[in-house]
Amino acid sequence: MSKKKIETEKISWEYAAAPESASHIDIKEKYDHFIDGKFEKPSSGKYFDSINPATEQKIASIAEGNSKDVEKAVIAARNAYDNVWLVMPASERAKYLFRIARLIQEKAREFAVIESLDGGKPIRESRDIDIPLAAAHFFYYAGWADKLEYAFPNRKPTALGVVGQIIPWNFPLLMAAWKIAPALACGNTVVLKPAETTSLTALKLAELIQESGLPDGVVNIITGDGKVGAEIVGHKGIDKIAFTGSTEVGKIIQKTVARTEKKVTLELGGKAANIVFEDAPIDQAVEGIINGIYFNQGHVCCAGSRLFVQESIKEIFIKKLKDRMETLIIGNPLDKNTDIGAINSKSQLETIQGYIDLGKREGFELFQSSCKLPKEGYFIKPTLFSDVAQSSRLAKEEIFGPVLAVQTFRTVDEVIEKANNTPYGLSAGVWTDKGSKIFNLTSRLRAGVVWANTYNKFDPTSPFGGYKESGFGREGGIHGLSAYLKFD
Ligand code: NAP
Ligand code: MG
Repeated sequence: MSKKKIETEKISWEYAAAPESASHIDIKEKYDHFIDGKFEKPSSGKYFDSINPATEQKIASIAEGNSKDVEKAVIAARNAYDNVWLVMPASERAKYLFRIARLIQEKAREFAVIESLDGGKPIRESRDIDIPLAAAHFFYYAGWADKLEYAFPNRKPTALGVVGQIIPWNFPLLMAAWKIAPALACGNTVVLKPAETTSLTALKLAELIQESGLPDGVVNIITGDGKVGAEIVGHKGIDKIAFTGSTEVGKIIQKTVARTEKKVTLELGGKAANIVFEDAPIDQAVEGIINGIYFNQGHVCCAGSRLFVQESIKEIFIKKLKDRMETLIIGNPLDKNTDIGAINSKSQLETIQGYIDLGKREGFELFQSSCKLPKEGYFIKPTLFSDVAQSSRLAKEEIFGPVLAVQTFRTVDEVIEKANNTPYGLSAGVWTDKGSKIFNLTSRLRAGVVWANTYNKFDPTSPFGGYKESGFGREGGIHGLSAYLKFD
């Protein structure tokens, strides 16, 4: 085939731009903290910028929190807990949660667009995954609020009190929902800190909470950097810390709370193994690998960042994978065709680039799709390293970007040993036609979630959480309730 012919074919596969409209969204120039049902100026008087990572343009100014703001929020949360929320019949509490869920659904388009503008993720993901799942979590836990005695028969569950919640930037609204919904359903009140780079949808949620009529002080949101998180963790008036983020910060939090009465749950990093056997449905597995590591820029704690492919199918599998990588569309997060949006921040871009440079230095075979990257914004091509050594940092450390480390295996025992040879244990994937193999692997892989012939599937009824350095405690399902309760 001539070169010209190939080029013509490529052009015929390009989609016309199909950007989601941003004309219907309402973003203020400046956002204050949400304390005791009202928006309050930061004690510091300072604000920081929230940036659109696809354009590097400022979107809004966000209040910079400090210890005084945290103090106010904890007082409001304690007051609401003692005088309103705990004494309210559980069936009444449920009504507020149902209302919040319905309001999220009503404003789903606005939330989706803001999530993609502020965080860089493709609109397809924020529209179809983040926002519907956030609403689903509120619906699900609303249903439990007045049925806790049935969830835990003969155990008299009661709320913990004021809960401090700290969340990361990869699923901003969804993580807020994962935290707030079960905490409130169990009768606790909340002080939440979103990640510095993605505060906007949490603040839009604060507006929505105001509209829902939720009693003042039940949910308080303080924005700012890691120092605000540390203030929340160290505050004596907080009964429980729920944290999602890096293992590094998780360890700091664990040290801080070690000598206190505070309860803690930690959802931390991961380095998931996606294992493809020779009897797997190959095209389906290729799609699963792509979904596991490239969609959402690899900004997923459970990203399938290590691919183990059985040696006998390595060539055909890697060829199909590379072909599929070539078709991925990278660019404007608001375009409905986009598969891979912007990397969340400049510092994350540099971290990922650092790992790609390391892989090159270590001499592993590099493949990147030949797409053009936008001139502005933080973007990285989908990247694959073949035959990565088990000892390499590429195979051991969480990159949190669209970088796949490929290894091969021959036997089941070999792949289980390799897959488990990591300090993490959040998730894994198994691709095979044999049910017996699936059961064998799911019982021997040390990971909180093991997906079989699918990947990255979430549901509020299903618990999620880690083994080893991926943290402890579960979110979602009935298990997610016990993280916010004590038992007599
Ligand atoms: P991170 O740096 O640990 O930050 C998470 C949150 O903690 C942010 O709000 C951050 O504030 C805050 N923080 C930073 N230092 C703190 C301190 N000393 N004390 C208290 N809070 C502090 O993690 P990230 O880079 O934002 O997020 C990516 C990580 O989250 C990855 O490791 C990923 O695997 C993990 N993650 C895990 C799950 C899960 O369910 N297991 C889900 C999603 C993400 P700033 O906003 O200033 O950074
Ligand atoms: Mg931003």
